[in-house]
Amino acid sequence: MRIDIITLFPAMFQGPLTESILKRAQDEEKLEIVFHDLRQFGLGKYHQVDDSPYGGGAGMLMRADVIVPALEKIAERKMHKGKSKKPYTIYFSPRGKKLKQAKVEKLAKKEWLILLCGHYEGIDQRVIDGGWFDGAHHKWIDEEISIGDYVLTGGELPAMVLIDAVARQIPGVLGKEASVHEESFSASLGRKKEYPHFTRPEEFRGLKVPDILLSGHHGEIEKWRKENVK
Ligand code: SAH
Repeated sequence: MRIDIITLFPAMFQGPLTESILKRAQDEEKLEIVFHDLRQFGLGKYHQVDDSPYGGGAGMLMRADVIVPALEKIAERKMHKGKSKKPYTIYFSPRGKKLKQAKVEKLAKKEWLILLCGHYEGIDQRVIDGGWFDGAHHKWIDEEISIGDYVLTGGELPAMVLIDAVARQIPGVLGKEASVHEESFSASLGRKKEYPHFTRPEEFRGLKVPDILLSGHHGEIEKWRKENVK
């Protein structure tokens, strides 16, 4: 899968994407992440990217005439390993649809995502809506996604959350031993929360592991786990 990220702060992604499982996924070419610094598409001598909102009010909005050329430039890259492709473009916003595991699974099947990270007060609504001009309908954003009912300073953390959740659904990314089935919110657990886990030692400060898990009785263990899904 290829993911293009449009952000004013590419350095924020250092760490979450350069360690552990996400690092390995990129090293093994299961995941390719490309950053685009929106500042490079800024206007004039100072590379302006934002402006004050019409109608007044606090804060700055990211301009449509900066974002759209960036989106179009990235989407121009239609060929990937000889195949023609269309990106699926996501804008992060508290007004978007809340991210759930079923959506994560759907996104993991896409070959190419573009993630647009807002900052400040957000972006000009015309980028999100698109519309008719030059005799055709233009749509730059396929979906608006929220990671929860709270407001962050930017779309960078939401982008990292989405990439992390999506990447672990890509076959092979978690490694052989781990499975994305039978875990919290998976279809096989009815989208419910997973049963609890225990490991050694058998007794810790007087706290014991449930007997059933030590019994070696697979049928009973299965039953106990099913009962402890919530
Ligand atoms: N004025 C906006 C908030 C802007 S926050 C409002 O009231 O809805 C600045 C940017 O952070 C947004 O453009 C968005 O990209 C990102 N963001 C903030 N909270 C988010 C959330 N819960 N989910 C996804 N993106 C979020």
